[in-house]
Amino acid sequence: MSRERLYLFDTTLRDGAQTNGVDFTLADKLTIAHMLDELGIDYIEAGYPGANPTDTSFFAEKRPMHARVTAFGMTRRPGRSASNDPGLAAVLAAEADAICFVGKAWDYHVRVALETTEEENLASIRDSVRAAKAKGREVLLDCEHFFDGYKANPAYALACAKAAYDEGARWVVLCDTNGGTLPHDVENIVAEVCREIPGDHVGIHAHNDTEQAVANSFAAVRAGARQIQGTLNGLGERCGNANLVSIIPTLKLKPEYAEKFDIGVSDAALKKITRVSHKLEEALNRAPNRYAPYVGESAFATKAGIHASAIMKELHAGIDDPASYEHVPPDTVGNKRKLLVSDQAGKANLLAELDRIGFAVDKDDPRLARLLDEVKEREAVGYAYEAADASFELLARRLLGKVPRYFEVEKFDVSVEQRVNAKGEPVTVSMAVVKVKVGDDVLISAAEGNGPVNALDVALRKDLGKYQSYITGLELTDYRVRILNAGTEAVTRVLIESTDESGEHWTTIGVSPNIIDASFQALMDSIVYKLVKSGAPA
Ligand SMILES: [Zn+2]
Repeated sequence: MSRERLYLFDTTLRDGAQTNGVDFTLADKLTIAHMLDELGIDYIEAGYPGANPTDTSFFAEKRPMHARVTAFGMTRRPGRSASNDPGLAAVLAAEADAICFVGKAWDYHVRVALETTEEENLASIRDSVRAAKAKGREVLLDCEHFFDGYKANPAYALACAKAAYDEGARWVVLCDTNGGTLPHDVENIVAEVCREIPGDHVGIHAHNDTEQAVANSFAAVRAGARQIQGTLNGLGERCGNANLVSIIPTLKLKPEYAEKFDIGVSDAALKKITRVSHKLEEALNRAPNRYAPYVGESAFATKAGIHASAIMKELHAGIDDPASYEHVPPDTVGNKRKLLVSDQAGKANLLAELDRIGFAVDKDDPRLARLLDEVKEREAVGYAYEAADASFELLARRLLGKVPRYFEVEKFDVSVEQRVNAKGEPVTVSMAVVKVKVGDDVLISAAEGNGPVNALDVALRKDLGKYQSYITGLELTDYRVRILNAGTEAVTRVLIESTDESGEHWTTIGVSPNIIDASFQALMDSIVYKLVKSGAPA
């Protein structure tokens, strides 16, 4: 049985760029567009030419890609001709393969927001589609507030969609613009639309305001729609858009969809999706969501000792995917199985974790019992190794005698000073001095920072002598502090997330009653981990 083609339309760079706090540069947009293209996305909506300088320059030249580079714009303004609308002209002039217009589909909005007649809105849709087709572009119409509009006046909402389709638009996209529609309504309404417009010309654009954007996208596909619009990691204004990073693996790995549909994403590209998801967060300077389905660090993490030992039994019996505890094999999406090390876990977890990081240790090796005791003791005072994979690996390596003493910090001094500047304003300045011994060399570095931990970090990484070249790509991407057992006995737990030129992320931990000391431990672990993984000589 031949499978039907289902198309993916990414709007990370247009709707996703509406997210609070997100501001893509042209370079960001190009990087992300190429990443989407490699993934196998069919349409990449890169922005709104004419609306801002970044988007205008993106579309100022041809961007050769497998995907159809799509420009977003409004249908012509009411009361103007298509040839006399500067906004429309900017969109038509864009170097794009396709144009996605947004048009009103709710009679109430036509009257109140557009302040025009229903007929004039239909004419605007027809004229805009015709003008873009005349320029040789493939045309899509995003029908704004389609579901609310359909509930209020089905005949008019449908007339808007039909106007675009009859004029030759390749796709009519039904938008749940405020994200409030529920899956059963989406399914019913899309089914009704597909009686008038063939489903292979109908798309769905869902927002996540009831956390059902992914479910709504699948509801639309079940009812006949054949294009899904969404964003990487569900980026988008308010609660976001439908998350393509969850939708794509579901389409590829769940038989209900995989047996029925082909998408542009190959099995090999699917293995890159974890990386793609993390790279987007890097571009945004945010830490990846560890609980994200399929791609999060915890997506295939098992804590309970009994599950971990069952998974190990399956692995040792030669069964490749421990299907009894995992809904899909983690490597299909480029993720990793993770068996958590924690105080409730036994030897089986520990062995499995050592196995994963490449240590072959016999289960009766006495060092294993010592490592387990050490982990338990440390977790009792506040360490959390399941959240700090790199610190765990170092602890294990140290117990097995495999971490060289690259350098020693003989002394550090951190000061925080508040003073009044020349303008009479209070300013706080932090400074750190670090004395490091590398081999026979004693190196002293000083640095200022926007806070004491930052100053300490900068000073520590300023000069590590012969090891300096190994840590140049090291970057701290996240710093989290938690106060445990609040009260006079409080201790501080610091988690630091780092990355480097290879794109690998790792987390290290420090615990102490003193926040600087806890931060120092986590910083040191991060640097030493980087030296170990770069193969720095002892
Ligand atoms: Zn939207």
